[in-house]
Amino acid sequence: MIVSVASGKGGTGKTTVAASLASVWPRPAAAVDLDVEEPNLDLFLDPRIASTQRAYIEVPVPDPAGCTLCGSCVELCQFKAISRMGPSILVFPEMCHGCGGCIGICPENALTPGKRELGTVAEGMAGDIRFLSGRLRVGEAMSPPLMREVLKRLFALLGRGPTDAIIDAPPGVSCPAVNAVMESDVILLVAEPTPFGFHDFVLAVEAFAPFKKTMGVVINRAGLGDGSIHEYCRDVGLPILAEIPFDRSIAEAYSRGRVVASLDERLRGVFSELAAKLLALSGEDAHA
Ligand code: SF4
Ligand code: SF4
Repeated sequence: MIVSVASGKGGTGKTTVAASLASVWPRPAAAVDLDVEEPNLDLFLDPRIASTQRAYIEVPVPDPAGCTLCGSCVELCQFKAISRMGPSILVFPEMCHGCGGCIGICPENALTPGKRELGTVAEGMAGDIRFLSGRLRVGEAMSPPLMREVLKRLFALLGRGPTDAIIDAPPGVSCPAVNAVMESDVILLVAEPTPFGFHDFVLAVEAFAPFKKTMGVVINRAGLGDGSIHEYCRDVGLPILAEIPFDRSIAEAYSRGRVVASLDERLRGVFSELAAKLLALSGEDAHA
């Protein structure tokens, strides 16, 4: 089972929830940081990293000697990453999405595969929890290709034995967030009950609903704001699976990089119950 912890906006407590959920998960679990632009799940889970590998995307390298300037590659590329400039074919590697189409279509084999570094993928263990994380290279504009590299490693890991995955997804509803939740069985939306929080929460529900995934909600900083999120969830039939109180001790623990579920029995109970509800929601047995 794969659970993506997502949120319409940054700062709602998504990583807090992902770290706590992983720490109490009743079955073997992997914690995966797919927020590759600002990964920080490691600050909470404090994993021992066993390997860090660079990840690359394939980009075309033109061979001027073989190119007849036929223009097929330029016509094909939807991203304007390859262009004809006078007597030359130029590639703009930072704009290339690595589809490989131009390399495949070139009738003269005048484009060969080169590479652009995307960032790094780290693997390790945080106690009993397997840990995976991507970190985007400074200056790299596209996060989905690196996220796919992290997911590739996750699927390899899931293929080696029964393991569930808790994914810390990027915030928002743009391409990276959608990429992160697409592979999950359950999307857990973390929302805060403020006017901004409610606005962005609704955007997230609307953005993810077309994927027809099972969705649940955690309200963080419960007690703030008004009852708009409760009302909305009731109207659209979204279950609220947990409420984390607005509490100074939680904010202090967060600022020190502590896992909130480890603060006291009551909070551990909140997250254990959340884990059980998520498993029940997807029809799975907590002890399978
Ligand atoms: S690999 Fe794809 S995205 Fe990159 S330049 Fe070629 S056609 Fe464009
Ligand atoms: S498809 Fe090949 S031959 Fe044609 S312009 Fe591109 S690189 Fe040159």
